[in-house]
Amino acid sequence: MDGSTGASHYPVIVLGGGTMGLAAAWDLGKRGIPALVLEQFGIVHDRGSHSGQTRVIRHAYAESPEYVPLVRRADDLFVALEAETGNHVLHRTGGLDLAGPGHDHARLARLSAETWAVPFEWLDGAEVRHRYPAWTVPDDWEACFSPLSGFLHVDATLSSLAAAARQRGVEIRPHEAARSWHADGAGIRVETDDATYTADHLIVTAGAWAGQILAGCGLPLTVLRKVLWWFAVEDPAPFRAERFPVFISESDAGHVYGFPLDAETFGQGLKLAEHSGGELADPDTLDRNATDDEASLVAGFAATCLGGVTTRIERRAVCMYTMTPDQDFIIDRHPERSNVTFGAGFSGHGFKFATAVGELLVNLALDPAATPPPFLSLERFAVAAVEP
Ligand SMILES: Cc1cc2nc3c(=O)[nH]c(=O)nc-3n(C[C@H](O)[C@H](O)[C@H](O)COP(=O)(O)OP(=O)(O)OC[C@H]3O[C@@H](n4cnc5c(N)ncnc54)[C@H](O)[C@@H]3O)c2cc1C
Repeated sequence: MDGSTGASHYPVIVLGGGTMGLAAAWDLGKRGIPALVLEQFGIVHDRGSHSGQTRVIRHAYAESPEYVPLVRRADDLFVALEAETGNHVLHRTGGLDLAGPGHDHARLARLSAETWAVPFEWLDGAEVRHRYPAWTVPDDWEACFSPLSGFLHVDATLSSLAAAARQRGVEIRPHEAARSWHADGAGIRVETDDATYTADHLIVTAGAWAGQILAGCGLPLTVLRKVLWWFAVEDPAPFRAERFPVFISESDAGHVYGFPLDAETFGQGLKLAEHSGGELADPDTLDRNATDDEASLVAGFAATCLGGVTTRIERRAVCMYTMTPDQDFIIDRHPERSNVTFGAGFSGHGFKFATAVGELLVNLALDPAATPPPFLSLERFAVAAVEP
């Protein structure tokens, strides 16, 4: 707040206090920048892209080796966040990247691991069954086991980021939606129902609302409705973390991923979900009710590949992916307003990178010489558009 003018002026305003916005807030706090974060809902809520308690973190990254340095940096920063706050956010259970015959997910994970010397073990289906008795996959399945993988507790992570940012002087205002923003050479103006704020820089981290907030950029974003399921198991023992690492699997049953039963989620069932698929959605009119028949693909996967998972659904949650055409994120400056930086299109796999993304967004906002990694830049779509 700039008391001399009576206006609320900040060096940086962050529009959207969800996953990436709170990570940017912590980074701003560490740099001693008294920023403002505006969030339309509460801090940690179930209306955006971070609902459902847990998120997988993987380092042997099948999507592309280019993500490995980013997840390593994020991992270091999650560990630093734990040290700063005393909260446990990263649960390192190890992880399996599995593939059925004719699918290459496990090999792509291995390629990333080999490229960046990420520790891994290569297993066939028989070895998977031997080590992890809940699994019933045939011998011809392949798996890349990475001991660094695990899951992040969403509530603990985001609450810790918010607390650490506030502790360092960042102002976070929940339940205050940005209704409009304006940028010109003189700076930024953001309007809410309660106030008008000005700033030198704006960072937009609006998740599924990014397409609306950044309408002038023509970002190639689509929003998908996704459902998470918690199934009752016959016996919890084979699904505890010591015997059941996090996993993501590609097979004829689609891309399915899941989590062990852990102390905090135990009793709610085994969390499984489909990474592939999803219906087009609008974040303002999202259907938040999920019917049992929508669980059929995941239930079918469990019946084929896992032993002891019942068809009784203990819990369900609806969430949104914001997709880009190539499923890589867009982290860049606004093409016409260099004082506006944004992170969008996290395509259903952004959470594990949050702390590194927050740092990158702040670098782009504060350092005119900073550039995003080319595979995450907005420019890659412009380049693709002029190719024949
Ligand atoms: C079902 C599901 C499973 C997933 N699993 C994984 C996983 O296992 N591993 C992984 O790495 N990633 C996973 N992801 C992806 C990851 O959760 C997302 O990429 C990440 O949470 C996106 O962060 P975000 O900040 O863009 O969105 P959000 O966390 O939703 O934050 C955006 C925020 O902006 C706020 N906002 C929007 N408009 C305004 C406005 N006008 N004014 C104020 N505030 C506003 C919203 O309220 C919201 O809080 C999953 C996602 C889903 C949906």
